Amino acid sequence: MKKEDIEIVKNLLANPKKIAIIPHRSPDGDAMGSTLALYHFLKKINHQPIVISPNDFPGFLAWLPGSESVLVYENEKESVTKVLQSAELVFTLDFNALHRTGEMEQVLQKLKVPFVMIDHHQKPDNYALVTYSDTSIGSTCQMIYEFISSLGKKDLLDKTIATCLYTGIMTDSGSFRYPSTTSTTHRIVADLIDLGVNNSEIHNLVFDDNSFNRLQLLGRALQNMKVFPEYKTAYTTLSQNELDEFHYKKGDTEGFVNYGLTIKGINFAAIFIENRDENSIKISFRSQGEFDVNQFSRENFNGGGHINAAGGKSTLSMEETTKKFENLLTKISI
Ligand code: 5GP
Ligand code: MN
Repeated sequence: MKKEDIEIVKNLLANPKKIAIIPHRSPDGDAMGSTLALYHFLKKINHQPIVISPNDFPGFLAWLPGSESVLVYENEKESVTKVLQSAELVFTLDFNALHRTGEMEQVLQKLKVPFVMIDHHQKPDNYALVTYSDTSIGSTCQMIYEFISSLGKKDLLDKTIATCLYTGIMTDSGSFRYPSTTSTTHRIVADLIDLGVNNSEIHNLVFDDNSFNRLQLLGRALQNMKVFPEYKTAYTTLSQNELDEFHYKKGDTEGFVNYGLTIKGINFAAIFIENRDENSIKISFRSQGEFDVNQFSRENFNGGGHINAAGGKSTLSMEETTKKFENLLTKISI
């Protein structure tokens, strides 16, 4: 974080404030972990923080300390809008473009108070007074650790804050196996464990939360998979009917896209998931190595993210969307 930005943030936090902390829509472990870690930290230094999620967070994160205090905009739009309007400072974490909050964007755009962005995605928009963006860091949670250190408040870290941070570092690093996992990541994680984090239990809480339905839905996704060895690509689909058949719940498809990449010789994987309510297809892209899925998604599917993990959207039918995707494969080098 830049020196002058640290000074600006120190000034912003010099007196107690009402602070809204916002993760992206459909928050993952890193979004929830980072917002809740910052929530506990700001409370400790006498502010009145509140985490406001654009929509519901998945059940496998509902054990996170403080998650019971999270407000969900899409569940109570009017009252949450009032809370947002009363904030004196806004932190946006784990995203860098306001449209990632969905409908909540309209409310955020009208706020006149300072914004602080802490994020590790490519190409940050310019909406914040302070933009702490670092695409080389594997998780926003790791950035929150650095942020608290930069403020000279590392001594305030405790088991609760550490538990939230550990969760996001673990989920965004694929349990410490993606290339963005550095020796610094491991040193930070070591610190968090010294603060009392129960690393093994957190892994179980997040990943051993399968329902039988979810496993069967995974089975269907694996059966639907198409593999194109000549393009080093595999993709799969789930229609809304298939989601319904296995009583899809939020978060159930988390991680499905990664299975394609585990096939020998495959460096690019995608999953297309139909959303009947929104009349669209939600897409996840993952790559291994050089192929930049952030750019691919930005150029072709209205999305973005990181070089090796990105998301996007299509308003075409499933058939047209996958046809478009297959056509694009002939034009790129993976
Ligand atoms: P996922 O595939 O897990 O939804 O997302 C992969 C990465 O891309 C995440 O870091 C996520 O924040 C980002 N991402 C997902 N969907 C979108 C999107 O529609 N637009 C942008 N800019 N980023 C996205
Ligand atoms: Mn993240």
